[in-house]
Amino acid sequence: MKYVGAHVSAAGGLANAAIRAAEIEATAFALFTKNQRQWRAAALTADVIDNFKAACEKYQYGPGQILPHDSYLINLGHPVAEALEKSREAFLDEIQRCEQLGLTLLNFHPGSHLMQIDEDACLARIAESINITLDKTQGVTAVIENTAGQGSNLGFKFEHLAAIIDGVEDKSRVGVCIDTCHAFAAGYDLRTTEATKNTFDEFGRIVGFQYLRGMHLNDAKSAFGSRVDRHHSLGEGNIGHDAFRFIMQDARFDGIPMVLETINPDIWAEEIAWLKAQQTADQAA
Ligand SMILES: [Zn+2]
Ligand SMILES: [Zn+2]
Repeated sequence: MKYVGAHVSAAGGLANAAIRAAEIEATAFALFTKNQRQWRAAALTADVIDNFKAACEKYQYGPGQILPHDSYLINLGHPVAEALEKSREAFLDEIQRCEQLGLTLLNFHPGSHLMQIDEDACLARIAESINITLDKTQGVTAVIENTAGQGSNLGFKFEHLAAIIDGVEDKSRVGVCIDTCHAFAAGYDLRTTEATKNTFDEFGRIVGFQYLRGMHLNDAKSAFGSRVDRHHSLGEGNIGHDAFRFIMQDARFDGIPMVLETINPDIWAEEIAWLKAQQTADQAA
């Protein structure tokens, strides 16, 4: 079973995210459980939690189909102690919000060394941040997203993801989300079916599909290997259609939320319908 959807707005209440997902016939969705550009948010009220759970039940979204994303401000590999502490507190709050909402996954960007510590030290810090947070919480898996490698962001190589997982004590509660645009911008070719197969075989060898807990399905406006993060609508960017058809036909991507973060929400319903149709389409079509 493939679950496909989009990162929908939760404006006006978290329950609206499930309603908006249902409107575009999504079978998965992503959302922010608080404003992604702010450190603090009001605690979730019982009403907000109940309404969200009721909407998810009504539109038949189980926790395995929902991939919340944390705040962009959080840097779990921050080189400076006080700033690292602030990020760890905010990350704990994000995971606790998921616990309250009955959600089981939290997607986040690994972190940046800001040119102040080396890559290995930063990766070790990220793993330690995950350990500290998992120790204080239950039932939520920390889902590390691969990045395009802009600036000093780590996570652009599969080896980075493997190194973080290696440092996490509870392997049952750590996973990864692969963003196709980020992978392509980081130098993993997805322009043909053959290239896509090779990229994901490499992912399987270095990270392992048992850790794959979500996908971000985005075409890329950015060039191959450019380390620039610019999403595009499916089939309109430098990746093209083949990679997405491959993913929809490969059983290794079953049972995880796969969400669009493509640039035109007006065509999400069409993109979702197209993705669903690829499951039975001719490989060469
Ligand atoms: Zn993404
Ligand atoms: Zn991106």
